[in-house]
Amino acid sequence: MTRRHEILKEMGLTPVWRLRNEKEEAREVKEEVGWTELKQIVPACTACGLHRTRAQTVLGVGDEQADWLFIGEAPGAEEDRLGEPFVGQAGKLLDNMLAAIGLNRAENVYICNVLKCRPPGNRNPEPEEVAQCSPHLAKQIALIQPKLIIAMGRFAAQTLLNSDASIASLRGRLHQYGGLPLIVTYHPAYLLRNLPDKSKAWEDLVLARRTMQSLIP
Ligand code: URA
Repeated sequence: MTRRHEILKEMGLTPVWRLRNEKEEAREVKEEVGWTELKQIVPACTACGLHRTRAQTVLGVGDEQADWLFIGEAPGAEEDRLGEPFVGQAGKLLDNMLAAIGLNRAENVYICNVLKCRPPGNRNPEPEEVAQCSPHLAKQIALIQPKLIIAMGRFAAQTLLNSDASIASLRGRLHQYGGLPLIVTYHPAYLLRNLPDKSKAWEDLVLARRTMQSLIP
């Protein structure tokens, strides 16, 4: 039950009925779905055209109750082949970024992408693909309930914040996604091509570490 439902129930105001259009209906993963079902739903998904070209879906990796949730864009070729996010060059940089703040992907960290299927030729995700796939991400976040979300790159940041602002304008401060603190930073693949921005990504990581420290009692 969501917090909102709990409060409304306390007030004797449930059930809450509202009209939903068909599209919205299709785009929600049901509230009662847990990890077991999600791990069946995602590999079977044919909601957008990417299912035709994927080798496999890439749901995510790590601790399903992690405090730290790192979200990227979409699987690339290596990720599509191996079924794990961030295993290519960008993944190596992400591992270094994690290590820089004392983290590693095996402990208290979950890593996933906005899209669970690889866009052919690593092209940018299409808005319709993001729209069809983001309920899977929303469900993952709801199940993990991380203490802090790190949105890496434009697609993760814009999707989660429902914004079309640039990374440069979104980074450097604390945002919220569904009541959870969220920090925006550059995507590791972008940093591989734009080395001068690595120092800004480091500032973002310092902010993230400081934020997490303030959240832990
Ligand atoms: N880039 C991403 O956004 N995600 C991956 O899993 C790999 C590269």
